[in-house]
Amino acid sequence: MKRDPFDDDVRDSRRKLLAGLAASAAGAMVGCARGVAAPSAPLVHAADGHRRQWGLVIDLDRCARCAGCVVACQQENNVAPAGPRVAARTRPIHWMDFLPPALGSFAATPIPCMHCQDPPCVKVCPVGATYQTDEGITAQIWDRCIGCRYCMVACPYARRYFNWSEPGWPGEDPSSLNPDVAPRPRGVVEKCTLCHHRIRAALERARLDEEPLTDEALRRLPACAQSCPTQAITFGDLAEPTSEVARLAASPRAMRLLPEAGTRPKVIYLREST
Ligand code: SF4
Repeated sequence: MKRDPFDDDVRDSRRKLLAGLAASAAGAMVGCARGVAAPSAPLVHAADGHRRQWGLVIDLDRCARCAGCVVACQQENNVAPAGPRVAARTRPIHWMDFLPPALGSFAATPIPCMHCQDPPCVKVCPVGATYQTDEGITAQIWDRCIGCRYCMVACPYARRYFNWSEPGWPGEDPSSLNPDVAPRPRGVVEKCTLCHHRIRAALERARLDEEPLTDEALRRLPACAQSCPTQAITFGDLAEPTSEVARLAASPRAMRLLPEAGTRPKVIYLREST
């Protein structure tokens, strides 16, 4: 039978990605065993007065591993579900995912993009399709992406996904899509945006109402945080010392994945109490 070059390409890419993920995950375990972040060091420095630095804290004591955040993220961000054929050929896209079960006590940990303070994915993009916003979000301009996948190789957390095929939804019903988020076409890389569209809408509402955007209104803003039944995920401004997210990040249980990678993630975990 004639070989499909697309299949070969997909298989090769998949092999490399799985190897990278295994290496990253193994590193995460090592980091966890070492205690990872030094809680005494400030996690984020606000430069030049106050500049917001959005981040998440995920409390592993509270997390029920129910995958509600995974499903909510898929729905909110128009992430197309992988059918059996696509899943067999490629790595299904999950902006929010779980670390694989082979990782023992660190298994089933929710993992979005880390929105690194020093993101290697941004440095390697040859066309500026990925960049860091002033408020610390690693963003992606889908239209500018040329699909070279350098960013996927550079990300130590395997948090980027390539669209090997045109996205499709059950029944192809466009009314099921969120009109606030553009679906990504075949041939581009995509990733978690920290629900940037929700943040922008909340800031705009606050501006029109001439009311400050309170920390309380922010805590459950992204879809993952909103959907979590145990409130294990908290969102907010890490550079604002009085915010809930900054308070949690100062906990002695605070840790970051793969600190040795030097990326300084703004997704901070609270390790499980023993
Ligand atoms: Fe980039 Fe990966 Fe860091 Fe996200 S986790 S900012 S994709 S290097």
